[in-house]
Amino acid sequence: MILLKNVSKSYRNGVHALRDINLEVEDGEFVYIIGPTGCGKSTLIKILDGEELPDDGEVFVNGINVGKLRHAKVPLYRRNIGVIFQDFRLLPKMTVFENIAFALEVLAMEKTAIRRRVREVLELVDLQDKAKAFPEQLSGGQQQRATIGRAIANHPKVLIADEPTGNLDPEKSIEIIQLLDKINQVEKTTIVMVTHDEKLVNAYKKRTIALEEGFIVADIKKGGYIQHD
Ligand code: ADP
Ligand code: ADP
Repeated sequence: MILLKNVSKSYRNGVHALRDINLEVEDGEFVYIIGPTGCGKSTLIKILDGEELPDDGEVFVNGINVGKLRHAKVPLYRRNIGVIFQDFRLLPKMTVFENIAFALEVLAMEKTAIRRRVREVLELVDLQDKAKAFPEQLSGGQQQRATIGRAIANHPKVLIADEPTGNLDPEKSIEIIQLLDKINQVEKTTIVMVTHDEKLVNAYKKRTIALEEGFIVADIKKGGYIQHD
């Protein structure tokens, strides 16, 4: 579970990026975070993945007090959450198979177990036939699928997706959202997805949390983009 209690975050320049955020995300939920540029979406994600600490309030992810996480403990914490971004960040000199395997090798997992899990993940993200391809040989949508595969290889309980469809055309974006849906159902991964994609949010309705100037201004169970007049 993700739990934020009265979380506030200001930057040194005096900008209040998050103000008194209270938020609870249950295990297995799929949640969109929406809002205009500068409303605090990235800051919220950075607080969830341990990159930034809140000034006030409490942050718990899977029972870990992330708001009090010591710097040295952050890498260990991050092993249990998957994070994907708008840009794909695959290692260019490794194949798709190797990119996904690498995420498990660093955990000192046993070789046959790694190969088994990588095959399973490749099937899940529908890239079995691209196992030996290098990132530059893939389309944007395929690269993002490989990135998602790498992020979930270690069975993280939470997957954080920061504008995962930001670099993709509408057709590929739908593929990505359908894949995230499948991962949410098959792997029971909790998904928190930041997005600007109004069409996607309206087409695949899910709980939608809207931020404005650092405040949560809406939290709608069955989603849909909030209309402004
Ligand atoms: P979003 O992701 O919704 O665009 P951000 O969380 O990036 O919003 O930013 C929220 C506010 O905090 C903005 O006003 C932004 O300019 C400011 N901000 C973000 N990061 C920093 C930083 N490292 N230093 C100072 N201000 C920042
Ligand atoms: P994004 O929207 O993808 O977060 P930005 O261009 O807003 O990209 O931010 C890029 C980086 O700069 C982020 O790490 C963010 O925290 C930081 N940043 C954003 N706004 C400010 C700011 N006003 N002052 C300093 N750093 C900032």
